[in-house]
Parts: sequence; C-alpha cells; structure tokens
Amino acid sequence: MVKANAYGHGLLPIVEFSERHLGIKEFGCATLGEALYLRDELNESEFEIYVFSDIQIELKECSEHFLSKRIIPVLSNMEDLEYFLADNRFKNFPLVLKFNTGMNRLGIDIEDTDKVIKKIKASGRRSIHHLMTHFANASLSMQKNKRNLLQINNFSDLKSTIRSAGIEIHQTSLSNSGSIEQGIGLEESHIRPGLMLYGPSSLLPNLRSKSLWKGQVISELETYVIRSFEVEKGQPVGYGATPCPEDGLIAIVALGYGDGFSTRYQGATFPYKGKVGKVMGRVNMDMTQIFFAGETIDFLSHGEKFKIWDHNNENIYRLSDETATIPYEIFCSITGRVPKAYEYSH
Ligand SMILES: *Cc1c(COP(=O)(O)O)cnc(C)c1O
Repeated sequence: MVKANAYGHGLLPIVEFSERHLGIKEFGCATLGEALYLRDELNESEFEIYVFSDIQIELKECSEHFLSKRIIPVLSNMEDLEYFLADNRFKNFPLVLKFNTGMNRLGIDIEDTDKVIKKIKASGRRSIHHLMTHFANASLSMQKNKRNLLQINNFSDLKSTIRSAGIEIHQTSLSNSGSIEQGIGLEESHIRPGLMLYGPSSLLPNLRSKSLWKGQVISELETYVIRSFEVEKGQPVGYGATPCPEDGLIAIVALGYGDGFSTRYQGATFPYKGKVGKVMGRVNMDMTQIFFAGETIDFLSHGEKFKIWDHNNENIYRLSDETATIPYEIFCSITGRVPKAYEYSH
C-alpha cells in the first residue's frame, strides 16, 4: 500500500525500489489521482495499480482513466458494481470486490452476497479476480478480539458461499499491517501491508512487544539548530510568549508545521546527547523551540544536527504516544518542503 505519498515517504522512489529490487508488482492507492500520477511517472515499469476508496467510476472522465491506463478499481458498493458490470468497456477488466465483514465503512454488505452472485452470473462472468475485506481492529488482538474473530469467520463464509455458487475466486486478501504482524491472513493469495513497510508496528502500545514484525523505521527525520540561547525561568519565548519553566537553553530548530511538524507536538520530548529536550511554546510554521532544562550554551550551538526520529522504532513510538497521534499520521503529515534523500542498500 503506497497511498498518501507512500505514507509520506515519497510515492515514486518507494514504488520504484519495491518494484525493481523487491519484485513487488502490485500497488495499492486510495485515489485515482494517486494512481494516475504513479502510472504516468513510471510508465516504463510493468505493475498493477489498485484504487481502493476514491474511485468515482460513474464519472466518464474517471472510468476512461481506469480503462486507458489499466488502473484497477476496487468496487466496494452495489452501485459501483452494477455500473462496472453494465459497462461493456470493462468486459475484460479484472473484477475486484471489497466486502464489509464487520468494519462498517466501505464494502459490499455480506447480506447482499446472493444478489452479487446473481449479478455477476447475469453479466456472463464466471469469476472474481480478487475478493477482499478489511479489518476494523487490526491494532488489537486477532486472537482475542471478538470483532476480529467475527470478521475472519465472515470472510471465510463469504468465500465458501461464492465458490459453492460456481464462481471462481482467483485472489483473496484480508490483512493489513496489524493483522499480518499477528500472523493472520498469510495463507491468502495476498496481504496488503501499509505501515509495516515503513517500519513501525500498527499494534496498540501495550501490544507492540507481541508483534511478530521486527521491522525498523526506514526513514530518519533530521533538522538542525538555527540558533540557541540561554533563558531564565519565566522568560517569555516565541509566539504567545510562553514562559520558560526553568533556567536553561532554547534551541530553535528548522522544522515547523509547514514541514508537517504539527502544533500538537508541543510538549514532545527528544533525547539529545544524553539529555532530553522538550518542544516548548508554540510550534511555528518554519521553526520550533526545543527547551533543555538546566543546560548552558556549551551544550548545543547553531548548526548542530537534530533528529526528530531515526531508525529506532522507540523514537517514533515515543513521539506518537506523547502527542496522542499515531505513526501513520506523523509520517503522512510530512510535507513536500522537507527534502528527501534516498539511500538504497541491498
Ligand atoms: C490502507 C489500507 C491498507 C494498509 O493498512 P495498514 O494498516 O497501513 O497496513 C490495507 N488495505 C486497505 C484496504 C487499506 O485501505
């Protein structure tokens, strides 16, 4: 899954690397726009692209893109399915269906399975190219959570019902990162990993240690100190004149919400040279104040590099836990202003 600019990591380099060096030949986007960009920019490479949520297949300009660029829409409601089957231009196009087995977001209702079977048969088709569903609670235990167990069961029943009606199913998938990390869905033809490709676990903080996934964050976010200065307790700093809690040192780093470093990261802590710096006062568009209690100017001066996260998963977990966000959102927030450099190691 490479939606949202490959979880903020850069769509083209991530796909190029995965395709050339890892042999991955199928990629999932959320929107037709993402898929078109990917197809147009990497038109030399041969891979399949799936669009999962924002397909708007009923619009002529969209359906033409799917057809002419061979981008595969994932059909997740009856209207889209009817449209797809009725349109003769899609006659030889792969039929990909997503069912709602209990998440209650997108997905064809499993109650409608018989109707779907009839419609498929009436259209002259005898097979489904790819049948999928999506978990609502993959960050929770797949062994204990009742909703997860119900979804697993529903998907298994769905496959049997469709197959016993004489319709072939070529490919199946149900697992995203959280469930893959717990060993679920690996026997299907496909898995749909998203976050785990970029390193972190998707499991809730108290379950992370149980994850079977031993990946490391593939990125580092590094900035530098534009200026540092000593402050006294009570001294106001920056927008909103936040008073310093103690004597210490302020480092102004070149990173702000214009880079995707959210104003909600106020209070987040960062280890640095054996001490802990804390985001103090408001995060600005272009810079952020990091406060080191009790330190003096010798501790850190301008030009020094400052890491927001690195390959050690604990650092991105700390940032997301302290700021009540999730690694998904932290990654996706990174804006185009942040220069990205890629190193491929084999
Ligand atoms: C985003 C998405 C995934 C990947 O989810 P992660 O939790 O990032 O692994 C898988 N399947 C579908 C349908 C998705 O929309």
